[in-house]
Amino acid sequence: MSTSQTLVEQNSLKREFYHLIINGEKVESNNGQTISTYNPATGELVAQVAKASKEDAERAVQAAREAFDHGKWRKYPVGRRAQVLNKIASIMRSRFNEIVELEILDTGKSLSTAQGQVNQAIEDFEFYAGAIVGHRGVVNNMPGQFHNYTEKEPVGVCAQIIPWNYPIMMAAWKIAPAIAVGCSVIVKPASLTPITAIILGEICLEAGVPAGVVNIIPGSGAEVGNYLVEHKQVDKVAFTGSTPIGKDIMNKASNTLKRVTLELGGKSPNIVFEDADLDAAVDGSLYGIFYNSGQSCEARSRLYVHENIYEQFVEKFVSKAKQIKLGNPFDKETHMGAIIDQTQLDVIDGYVQSAIQDGAEVLSGGKVAQVEGFENGFWYEPTVIANVNHSMKVVNEEIFGPVVVIMKFKDEKEAIQLANDTEFGLGSAVWSKDGARATRVANEIQAGIVMVNCPFSAMPGTPFGGYKQSGFGRELCIETLDLYTETKSIISYYGNRPLNPLGL
Ligand code: NAD
Ligand code: MN
Repeated sequence: MSTSQTLVEQNSLKREFYHLIINGEKVESNNGQTISTYNPATGELVAQVAKASKEDAERAVQAAREAFDHGKWRKYPVGRRAQVLNKIASIMRSRFNEIVELEILDTGKSLSTAQGQVNQAIEDFEFYAGAIVGHRGVVNNMPGQFHNYTEKEPVGVCAQIIPWNYPIMMAAWKIAPAIAVGCSVIVKPASLTPITAIILGEICLEAGVPAGVVNIIPGSGAEVGNYLVEHKQVDKVAFTGSTPIGKDIMNKASNTLKRVTLELGGKSPNIVFEDADLDAAVDGSLYGIFYNSGQSCEARSRLYVHENIYEQFVEKFVSKAKQIKLGNPFDKETHMGAIIDQTQLDVIDGYVQSAIQDGAEVLSGGKVAQVEGFENGFWYEPTVIANVNHSMKVVNEEIFGPVVVIMKFKDEKEAIQLANDTEFGLGSAVWSKDGARATRVANEIQAGIVMVNCPFSAMPGTPFGGYKQSGFGRELCIETLDLYTETKSIISYYGNRPLNPLGL
């Protein structure tokens, strides 16, 4: 049994200190620096985490490079890589409650939310264990005595930079497809939420992923993230985070022509037609914005309701929004957890204040929440804002908090026009019992995802990603495998007469 195998089995996952994972080893940062990570629900310290420096990042790049260029992982038979991915999933399942607990402590999210996300992270590995087996090149029909086939080759060393809102899920979305095809990865988790990505890295080792294939290095985005983006020996950067940082990354990656995929921000429209099942639309729309305390890139934060049902819808929606329970994240009765930190809380409140100044009307919430027993945490009331228009900041910019704006529309054409009047294009939702209408509208919306009478945007197998300034590339699906591979075209001539193209 290797050291890495004993390490997870014998140790509790809940610790006072978490190491970096570089070249198959748990290490401290070279300069001894650490990140303190806090529980946003209580403000309490959760743990210290080694904070990677540029030197650590360099070591991770060299380890990933070595594992890719000279290692065995990408040369394993595909079935064997699939087996390791399934093993990762089964170890995660056996540590399910511990991972959920750590995710809640590090993010302040509610129990059911965390459970769903850890479960999805597990299913992502299972999905790619299956998907990889069918991922292959093609044979092309050629004229004359030529033969052409393609190989899907792993792109190489991938830097994977992820945000704080779904720590383990984002780590799984990145790691699973990349290692499935044989790449090596360097994951840079957000400093606010580094723990579960580290745990996932340890589990990868335990499951038999060779040293250097999966490296996890929490650290500063501006320093370590940027170092990876600019590094000549990194072949690809996969980034999930805000649109401004995404633009910066794309810009810098151009110097080395790195492959880039970007999953960025959003301001997703949610359209409720007069023929919708009203209760389903109300419940789905509440989930669409208040899930994960609104800290979702695909949060349905712009709600458009047909004028004939507007009053009725808003009454139900607001009355249920007021019933959303904030409280102990570990309590299964709690609907909504905390906000990630004070900075984000200030950002959210700033948007609400700007809306009020612009003449909007707050129908519920609209302020920092007081949660009994959790006075030192960061909480915001589920907030519904009406009397807004498309010239307001609260309507145009991503808030990343539990704040929804509601507007009226008069017909299908106007609904589509309003929905598309944004620089983003990630999620969207349509509520209607008229299937033809739902299809027409789904076809017209400029977004990567359209949810029709459905509150859920992401399940393993369904493509996730954006149009416009929400980024490009799709995750969570089969085509993600193409984004971690290069297509090599092999052309051969099988005639029995030598070719003499220059006629010499
Ligand atoms: P962020 O852009 O501030 O940070 C994301 C990651 O990038 C972090 O790990 C950070 O350390 C790193 N980073 C920061 N500056 C960097 C730089 N100059 N070079 C390289 N890396 C750098 O975003 P956040 O606040 O952590 O997350 C919230 C944002 O993420 C929201 O805009 C949200 O919409 C977006 N998001 C998008 C998706 C999606 O799939 N589209 C999913 C989740 C979150
Ligand atoms: Mn934390």
